[in-house]
Amino acid sequence: MDCIFCKIVAGEIPSKKVYEDDLVYAFYDINPIAPVHILIIPKEHIKSMCEMEEKHEKLVGHILFVAHKIAQEQGFAEDGYRIINNCGENAGQTVMHMHYHLLAGQKFSWGKMD
Ligand code: AMP
Ligand code: ZN
Repeated sequence: MDCIFCKIVAGEIPSKKVYEDDLVYAFYDINPIAPVHILIIPKEHIKSMCEMEEKHEKLVGHILFVAHKIAQEQGFAEDGYRIINNCGENAGQTVMHMHYHLLAGQKFSWGKMD
């Protein structure tokens, strides 16, 4: 399959690993938009949240749990962090393998987005 994130999971494309278990893989974003920018992805190829099925309910919960676990391990759980999932064209999803952005290390603003 011609999917860049499947290739990262398979070790065919290099990545800076943060965490791995049977279900998920986490690694540093190649083009960070915050001091800490980690991507958490399912090992299974799911195109996006928009393609999610009922059988993936636990997997998505696990991804969020792993995000918090990483935040605790890396010491930014207390200061706070942001999790983003871009789903589909309107959200600006560019890689069509579902992924969650874990952002930290700064104060984030909130308001109308461009
Ligand atoms: P999105 O716009 O939500 O689809 O986010 C895709 C993210 O994947 C972007 O933040 C990219 O910088 C990141 N990305 C693309 N290719 C790689 C790669 N080879 N290693 C790490 N991150 C990547
Ligand atoms: Zn994939």
